[in-house]
Amino acid sequence: MSVFDDYSNAEWILDELNSARCLVVGMAPRDIRSILRTEAKVATIHELVVWDSRVVDALLEAITPGDARFRTAFDDSRVYCPACGGSLNAFADGFAFPHGLRQHLSGSGNAARCRVVHHAREVARFRLFSHGVL
Ligand SMILES: [Zn+2]
Repeated sequence: MSVFDDYSNAEWILDELNSARCLVVGMAPRDIRSILRTEAKVATIHELVVWDSRVVDALLEAITPGDARFRTAFDDSRVYCPACGGSLNAFADGFAFPHGLRQHLSGSGNAARCRVVHHAREVARFRLFSHGVL
C-alpha cells in the first residue's frame, strides 16, 4: 500500500473529516465548546433536530452584548459570534444581538450558518451515520 492509497479510501477520508470537525469545535472558547459538544448525547434523528434548535438558544443565552470576549469595539448592541468569532461580513462589526446572531447561528433567513455550529451538527450526523441511524 502506498501513501496515496489512503486518499482513495472513502471511509478513511470521512474519519479524517470528522476528526477535523471535532478539532474545529474544540477550538471554541471552553464554555461555548461545552454547549456545542452536547451533540454527543444525540442518538436519534429527532434528537438531532431538537439539538439543532436548542444549541442556538443555549449559545444566545451564554453571552450578553456587554461580554468583553464578544463585544465589538464601537457598538454594545452588536457581538461577535461566540462560536467562530465572526462578523456579518467584512463591512459589519459583529452581529446585531440577538436577532442577527440568531440568524447566523441557525442559518435562518438569508444568513450563512456559523461554520462551527455546522461542524458540531455534522459530528452528530456522522455518529448517527456510523451507528446506522441515518
Ligand atoms: Zn459563527
